[in-house]
Parts: sequence; structure tokens; C-alpha cells
Amino acid sequence: MTLITFLGTCGGRFATIYQTRSTGGIFIEDSINISLDPGPGAILRMRQEGIDPTKIDLLLVSHCHPDHYTDVDVLIEAMTSGCTQKCGTIIASESVISGIEGFQPKASDYHLSHLANVHVAKSAETFSIDDIQISATSTIHTDPSGVGFRIQTKNGIITYTGDTSINEDVIKFYDESRLLILALTTPIGIRLHHHLSPEDAVIILKEVRPEKALLTHFGLRAIDAGPESIAKWIQEESGVDTMAAQDGMRVNLGEEIEI
Ligand SMILES: [Zn+2]
Repeated sequence: MTLITFLGTCGGRFATIYQTRSTGGIFIEDSINISLDPGPGAILRMRQEGIDPTKIDLLLVSHCHPDHYTDVDVLIEAMTSGCTQKCGTIIASESVISGIEGFQPKASDYHLSHLANVHVAKSAETFSIDDIQISATSTIHTDPSGVGFRIQTKNGIITYTGDTSINEDVIKFYDESRLLILALTTPIGIRLHHHLSPEDAVIILKEVRPEKALLTHFGLRAIDAGPESIAKWIQEESGVDTMAAQDGMRVNLGEEIEI
């Protein structure tokens, strides 16, 4: 069984500032434990959900915006017994690891030096961590080094889009996903440059046809409009089983996908 816990389901500046919902990303338990995009409060939300942050083996960080990276250093401390051991792995965008023009690095050199493996993820690169394969997907975002992640678990492929707008080069990376997690920011009829809208989600899902789509990273306007009604509309338009994630929601990926 692969278990996915949504620690936080909002994103964007103002939903994050006001903590309209929690931030903190996603925790995935398979043969290894993965923290994906640990935004503000990830460590708090793990404790609230009964998750031991010292058990994290792998950090995945898609890009250099606070709703995706804020708790990286404290989670590295958790992974490395307070920076007394050298263990664990981070796979993250170049902006997060080493910085790029306009974006200073978001993990400190001190913390990175205590990890056994530090990988800069570039689009289409694949990394093997134990028996899990992680590939970086393309994004079109204001952080030009941003990526999404495609995680080959023992129960099929989970793909997380990261923040992005879409074109064919982006969508091709979602192929064969069993579970597609979409960072959907806006409600129906509203487009925010470099982020997924419900209309984008319909285009993606009609093409990729995953077994299930899960929506997360809701901005203020999407929360006001009602994530469940957005998911219902996307499902009707795309024909793909679609659900809006909620804070604390757990998904079991086995022979079936159980919420
Ligand atoms: Zn972003």
C-alpha cells in the first residue's frame, strides 16, 4: 500500500499568508517516506497528523516560492538527527539548492551538507532512491528552474504537476499516471498566469486519463468558490474521476484507490 497524506491544500500568496487552509505539502509513505513541497507549517502539520518527521527519507521541492519550500531546513534537521548524522536525500529545483538569478538558494549550505545526497532536478532527469524512481517534469512558471515530480511507486505512478501553465511539452510528462495531483490555484473562469486553472485541468485530464485526479494548492478565490464544486465540474467536463483534497485527507493507493 502507498499512503498519501495531504498536510495542506492551499497555495498562492494570500491563502498562505492567512492560512485559509493549511500549507505544508504532501507526505507519501511507500518503501521510503517522502515529503513533497513542505511549505509553511509542514512540520507542525506532520505532528498534528501523527507523522514522525525523523522518518523522512526524501525531500522533494518543486520551486522557490514559500508555499512550497519554507520548512525545508527544519525537515533536514529532522531527517539527520538534528544535523548529527549524514543521511537522507533532497531532490529540488536549481533555485532551491543553489539559487538562480533572482532566486537565492532556499536550503542552507550547512543543512545540505548533512544530507547523503543532494540532487538538482532538471526536467526529464530521473533519480533512483531505493526502489522508487523519481523523474522531474517540466513546468512553465515564474521560477524558470521549477519542476514537477513523477514518482514511480510500487503501486503505480503518482504525478504532481507543481505550479505551471500548460503546453504539450508539459502534459507529456503526465503520461501513464495512475494518480495525478494537480496544483490548481483558481476557480472556473479565472486564469492566473503560470498556474493551473480548472479549464487547464480539463485539457490535461482528457489527454492523460489517469485513474484519479486530486486537486490541491487552492488559492483564496478557489476556496471561496468551493473546491468540491470545481472538482465536480472538472469531472463532468473531462470524464475523469476528480476530487478536491482537504487538509488531513489520506489516500490509499493499492489495487483500488481509497480515500
Ligand atoms: Zn509558485
